[in-house]
Amino acid sequence: MRRIYLDYAATTPTRPEVAKVMLDYFTESFGNPSSLYSYGQETKGAMEEARGKIAALIGARDEEIVFTSGGTEADNFAIKGVAFANESKGNHIITSSIEHHAVLETCKFLERRGFRVTYLPVDKYGLVDLDDVKKAITDKTLLISVMYASNEIGTIEPITEIGKIAKEARVYFHTDAVQALGHIPIDVNELGVDLLSMSAHKLYGPKGVGVLYIRKGTKLVPFMHGGEQERRRRASTENVPGIVGFGTAAELAQQEMDEEVKRLTYLRDQLTKGLLERIDHTRLNGHPLKRLPNNINISVDYVEGESMVLNLDLEGICASTGSACSSSSLEPSHVLLAMGLSPEQAHGSLRFSLGKWTTEEDISRVLEVLPRIVAKLRAMSPLLKSHR
Ligand code: PLP
Repeated sequence: MRRIYLDYAATTPTRPEVAKVMLDYFTESFGNPSSLYSYGQETKGAMEEARGKIAALIGARDEEIVFTSGGTEADNFAIKGVAFANESKGNHIITSSIEHHAVLETCKFLERRGFRVTYLPVDKYGLVDLDDVKKAITDKTLLISVMYASNEIGTIEPITEIGKIAKEARVYFHTDAVQALGHIPIDVNELGVDLLSMSAHKLYGPKGVGVLYIRKGTKLVPFMHGGEQERRRRASTENVPGIVGFGTAAELAQQEMDEEVKRLTYLRDQLTKGLLERIDHTRLNGHPLKRLPNNINISVDYVEGESMVLNLDLEGICASTGSACSSSSLEPSHVLLAMGLSPEQAHGSLRFSLGKWTTEEDISRVLEVLPRIVAKLRAMSPLLKSHR
């Protein structure tokens, strides 16, 4: 059976051309970039080249790119780093209620350490209201952290506008751009962000490597203590193969973005329209237009998301009920609940995220298979029986 992978938001395969470039840095060019001899300096050169490619993708300076072990570390570093470095000025952080757990759990940790956190509500599309952002700011606010695009519903937040508010209030601004990077254009100066989190494995790079963009002059304490790597901002010998892979993935993403956005938007809209037409009592979650070109999140009444995922898997199709991290828990998605969905509606949600190897044939196959699965599940559903 041909497998159809439609969970690119959970992770992407490393592109063969990226893996090929990385290989050399495991075996031949293995030197420590901190070593003074040529072996080390060669890998340092490759690392700096990769840094430049990532900086170019977001309009940053090379020295503002700090390598981390992934998006989670970048989020932790940004939020704890600013909080602990600026404690004498205030203790208040503003974030949204639909952030990834890497942000939400970091905020909860800081609450236990005496910080105060405002979790902004969102509207039915998952959008943060700018007036709420303004109203939440106090003279104790240190940081605003709002994600660029949601991993679950694909909604793109008004980052440029929030950036202006933060700048006016002289408050640091962080955005988790893990799902946006490489998929839509990002320019840190246009957005007005001070800190931006990224992860290589969402744009056809390897897992276990990320970046925190830190605007020059931003005051934050290091997250990892030890050696003097990354200009003393992140200790530990750098993951050179991962970093080189990230750089290549960033370069390819930049070259291919315009075409890929058009192609994926078309496929996304075909699938969305087809599903809403073919399956009754179904809604699209997230904003209809302000959304990632590759994300579809639907709620199907009277069926469980998990049952749909398992039945799709039997047909060779990989999809998800929400974020990969929460898909093993039976709690309804905090994102869908924050948007006002009932727990039943949230339980019946399904996310398809498309990518580089998604074809029209894949979309047709889902449109053929899913209505059949839903009809079968509804025929057995106690949810539907109680509704009748
Ligand atoms: N932030 C968002 C929005 C994500 O989607 C993810 C991954 O799912 C992360 C952070 C965590 O990134 P990583 O898996 O690189 O730690």
